[in-house]
Formats: sequence, C-alpha cells, structure tokens
Amino acid sequence: MSTAIDQFRKLINDCQRAVVFTGAGISTESGIPDFRGPNGLWKKMKPIDFQEFVRSEEARQTSWQRWFEHGQGLLTANPNAGHFAVARWVEMGKVSAVITQNVDNLHQESGVPEERVIELHGNATYAKCLDCERVIALESIAAQFRESGRVGPCDSCGGIVKTATISFGQMMPEEPMRRAEEETLASDLFIVLGSSLTVYPAAGFPRMAYENGTKLVIVNQQPTDMDSMADLVIHREIGNTLQGLLDRNTV
Ligand SMILES: [Zn+2]
Repeated sequence: MSTAIDQFRKLINDCQRAVVFTGAGISTESGIPDFRGPNGLWKKMKPIDFQEFVRSEEARQTSWQRWFEHGQGLLTANPNAGHFAVARWVEMGKVSAVITQNVDNLHQESGVPEERVIELHGNATYAKCLDCERVIALESIAAQFRESGRVGPCDSCGGIVKTATISFGQMMPEEPMRRAEEETLASDLFIVLGSSLTVYPAAGFPRMAYENGTKLVIVNQQPTDMDSMADLVIHREIGNTLQGLLDRNTV
C-alpha cells in the first residue's frame, strides 16, 4: 500500500476532532457535473445573480427553466464511496462536522446527521420562499412548471420562490458561516475532499485551519493553491482512496 494512504490513516487515527470540507470533486464521482468548473455550465452560460433574480420576473423564469433542464440530475444522484466513508468517520466520532460547498444533499443521504452538515452554499434539492422562508418541495414546483411553463410566487405570502441555494451575488448564510468557523477552529485535523479551493469565502476555512496550526489533508484530482500548506496531499479519486482507508481501518 502506498505511503500516502498509511500517512492518511495515521493522521485520522491520531486526531481527536476532524472536520471534513467537501467540494464538487466528491460529487462528480456521483455523476453530478461541476457547474463552476472549467467545463461547467457557468462557463457556457452566464449565471443569473441574486439581484437579477429578485429584480426580474423574466430572470426568475429563465433560472427555473435552466434548473429543470440542467439541475434535476441532483435529485436522482446517489452518494458514492467517498460520501459513505465520511459518514462512517462521523459515526465513529472522528469527524465532528462536514462543511460542504455542495448543494446536492448527498452527505445527508449517505447517513451524516443533518445537524453535522454545514452547507455554505445552501441546498438545491428543495426550494424556499425568500420572504417567509417556507420550504417548498421541488416536486410541486415541477408540476406547476409543467402545467403553466412558469413558477409562481409563494402560496402563503406571495414572496419570491427560489431553490434554497446561495446564488452568485447573494450574502453568505450567517449561521452556517459562524458554525463552520467554530468547527474549523476546534479541529485538530482538517480534511479537504474534492475542492479546488478557489471559491471564496468558502476556501477561507482550510486556510483558517492551517493558520490555527491544524493539520491539513487535501484529496483532490488536481493540484490546489493550498497544496504547499498541507501535511498530506493526494491527487487521486476520492471514493477509492477513502474506501481503501476504511477497509484497513475497520479490520
Ligand atoms: Zn412566503
């Protein structure tokens, strides 16, 4: 077995309180495209930012239409070996929180308790009213869209309905940002899985961990800007790498 895996195993065995930080790379292994990546959707069409979404009915309808054309794969994707390995670490009491840039709900689906997942960019598997914050199932929005070709306002208050994601130009969510900081500062091992660490402020957390003296591990197919700060860097697939770790850990 490779030395990198042995080192990774030792870091996990020795830590008291790890935090996992995930990006698109863990979910591309579940077949979910990286919208922000070099070949992603947002390189082909201009994203509709939050201000435009709120201001313009037309922008809202375009945004929903795009979601129904390109986003629905999120609803049928399944967690992969990487997600399950993270869930196992949480169950073992090794990992106290999973901070994610992903909006696909796959950590929750892999068995990580809801309260341990910190979503920095929200969740695209349901919608919310921007005014009364009522949660609205996407199935009912999809039905409405099929019937009328558009998505109307909130039934309760007439507010604007949007997927529960943080869009470009939208304020970062206060509570998850605060919790992510707390967890980062309390951790003695910070594990980055599948993030290029270029999207800020999310990418500030591994940097914060490093500056706080926390050991840093980065598993990502491509090199990242923070590789030089890390105690261990593995440029490989996440699912296989983590599965290999766990197989030997549990024996
Ligand atoms: Zn409402």
